[in-house]
Amino acid sequence: MRAYAELSPSPRTIMTPGPVEVDPRVLRALSYPILGQFDPEFTALMNDTMEMLREVFRTTNEWAYPVDGTSRSGIEAVLASLIEPGDRVLIPIYGRFGHLLHEIAERCGGRAVTMEKEWGAVFDQAEVIEAIRRERPNLVAIVHGETSTGRVQPLDAIGRACREADALLVVDAVATLGGVPVETDAWCLDAVIGGTQKCLSVPSGMAPVTYNERAERKILARKRVERGLRAPGQPNVEPAEGRRPIQSNYLDLAQLQDYWSPARLNHHTEMTSMLYGLREGLRLALNEGLEERFARHRLHESALVAGLSAMGVALYGDPSCKLPVVTCVEIPDGLDGESVRAMLLRLFNIEIASSFGPLKGRIWRIGTMGYSCRRDNVLHLLGAFEAVLLRHGVKLPAGAALQAALDVYEEG
Ligand SMILES: *Cc1c(COP(=O)(O)O)cnc(C)c1O
Repeated sequence: MRAYAELSPSPRTIMTPGPVEVDPRVLRALSYPILGQFDPEFTALMNDTMEMLREVFRTTNEWAYPVDGTSRSGIEAVLASLIEPGDRVLIPIYGRFGHLLHEIAERCGGRAVTMEKEWGAVFDQAEVIEAIRRERPNLVAIVHGETSTGRVQPLDAIGRACREADALLVVDAVATLGGVPVETDAWCLDAVIGGTQKCLSVPSGMAPVTYNERAERKILARKRVERGLRAPGQPNVEPAEGRRPIQSNYLDLAQLQDYWSPARLNHHTEMTSMLYGLREGLRLALNEGLEERFARHRLHESALVAGLSAMGVALYGDPSCKLPVVTCVEIPDGLDGESVRAMLLRLFNIEIASSFGPLKGRIWRIGTMGYSCRRDNVLHLLGAFEAVLLRHGVKLPAGAALQAALDVYEEG
């Protein structure tokens, strides 16, 4: 019989746009004993998690809970539940994850209308508002923080335009929640999806979502109660007259909200350990204070950017819409970006990311998210990056990067 080696993953410095390093307190929470999913002690933890999610999403929505699955499952749950076949869906695209919204909206039977911005920039909100007035969509889906290009899309005016046009606004805030302000109520966002393994610094595997009553009305009109759960003579087990049921069973927000409601109507078996992890991650974020947390992300971004600029490498994209938690660096001409990444990992235990599609081989992406967003990590990365670039024959002022970053820390 073959003896398999004991599991022993290397401790890495993870500076990617997810997954990122996890606070030891979250890792510890993941190892606690299992509770039954209807145990009052466990349902109390579910309720705490909803309360904390409302704070992090800055909303008074009744519904704020995690979908079990990676962030993409949250996006798919929201779109599958809110897009009825034939609905008009407007999708402004400025990077890879905008294309993902388009992809999913089409699979949900939506008639997609897209508008595209060149990668590295974002939309002027007025352009999107004009398209909403012209296209009269039932739903608008847009990314807040586009990790593929390192840009952040302003959203504060789009929500009100959606209300005037009677459209629902769905926002992918997977990369921003917990690191950059996401103002669900103040910006009039109807449904928002967050991520765990980005700025919340919890392992990948759950997708926090929130949605308001406007979204809930649409969901309930399409609600279909699972056959094996219907009581004899129970009313309203099928969608309203002429409405189509939500196509997915697993990613059905109508059933999921019943499960998270006091009725605790059984759906799937809740991911006990992941919920412990998420609850601990949220607790740490709220104890730090959201404003303090945003300021921490900005501080380490400044130090990183100062260091990279002193090194003389070019930052990618329009600086006026830079996403604070992802910094994109142009790979100098003729340099093998993958060789640099491999050397960082092999010799320094540091992981940074490449990018996708048109940016593959053109930029590196450095994340400063959650527990990974620390001074020691930024300094370690800058020193290592400089050494690896020098090793690859890049001409740069040796030593300048760390001094520039240290200057930022001394000021800040
Ligand atoms: C990471 C990311 C996703 C996908 O998240 P998964 O957890 O991998 O499913 C979606 N949108 C954005 C903007 C992201 O950064």
